[in-house]
Amino acid sequence: MLRKVLLAILVGFAVLFVQAQPMRIGLFPTQKFTKIKFANAIGSYFIIADTTFIGVMDHFSFCEISKSVNGTLDIVFHGLKTSGVKELKIIASEREKSVEISGIAPSMKARSFEGDFLVRSNNGSLLIVNQIDLETYLEGVVESEAGTGQKLEYYKVQSIISRTFAMKSKQKHAKDGFDLCNQVHCQAYLHKRNGSPIIDSAIKATRGQIMLHEDSTLAPTFFSANCGGQTCEPSQVWNASINGLTSFRDTFCIYTKQATWTKQIALSQWKSYLVEKYHYPIDDSTSAALILNWSSNTRPAFLFHPGYGIPMRDLREHFNLKSAYFSVSSDGNMVTLSGRGFGHGVGLCQEGAMKMARLSYSYDQILGFYFPLYRLSFINSNYLLE
Ligand SMILES: [Zn+2]
Ligand SMILES: [Zn+2]
Repeated sequence: MLRKVLLAILVGFAVLFVQAQPMRIGLFPTQKFTKIKFANAIGSYFIIADTTFIGVMDHFSFCEISKSVNGTLDIVFHGLKTSGVKELKIIASEREKSVEISGIAPSMKARSFEGDFLVRSNNGSLLIVNQIDLETYLEGVVESEAGTGQKLEYYKVQSIISRTFAMKSKQKHAKDGFDLCNQVHCQAYLHKRNGSPIIDSAIKATRGQIMLHEDSTLAPTFFSANCGGQTCEPSQVWNASINGLTSFRDTFCIYTKQATWTKQIALSQWKSYLVEKYHYPIDDSTSAALILNWSSNTRPAFLFHPGYGIPMRDLREHFNLKSAYFSVSSDGNMVTLSGRGFGHGVGLCQEGAMKMARLSYSYDQILGFYFPLYRLSFINSNYLLE
């Protein structure tokens, strides 16, 4: 009894550590896990099944969770099985502790995360929600999204756009029981921060900073890997324009790693897709010539001419292209699509921004270039740890 009381007090302390409103991140929801394992903890974690405390997990113990047939959880901890659990809480005893999560069914290699965890059964699989403070989450995001080897000013840019995106998109998964997922669908957060000093410095230097539109709403800080030399008008991607985002030339990214691409497609496949899907007038000689040789000086919304009604966006999806910005040439039975950029091209161009940072532009100059109608501001301090 005394032990339980002491542990309850400890749990109370653990909750006190995280005073800031945490982010609720759904971990790998598309994996549809039916069995997972928490192990190799750095520090201690309290394991609580619904309202019952069942033990402390340390570096030498592990906890396996599987989905049972009736939609509850089976927990195995220290060789003891607990069944009929609706929600499992795994609460860190202190800040900056981490635990590895691995998938047993389906299999997924172990990845470490900080913060607290909730596990529930949801639509036939296990839902893992990582409760973590915003700034710690962002360190994982910046590392996952920007990789290593970038300049400090670039990491500051990525910190601000990812922080703004997280705040703006908090309702994105409301129906799923969390705020954001940890995959590219929202923004990549594939593991805990590795403690890279330059990323730490960038997060600290921009602590709480976000971007607002002129009307004080959170800026839509979309970003993609490379815009191909011209950013994309949002309506070309999502059929709706976005206040403050327009298309403009970007010369910073045109000689970078993902500036160009080519893809070859059999001429017969190219023709039949255009004819069958869009009733392309292949019998007209001018139109027939276009499908073999066509280019545009600016980022086009439609292939050949808007009148044919063939959105570049749809071709990108159908042929699995790196971007929707390309020209067409042909040789014999093959058509070559020569493309520019990688990703949707709306908003900030990561490779262009990385190049600007290497050319010694400051983070606010880089953000000013890609988001000229937005200004820097600060989030509500409820989201920041003391
Ligand atoms: Zn998502
Ligand atoms: Zn660019």
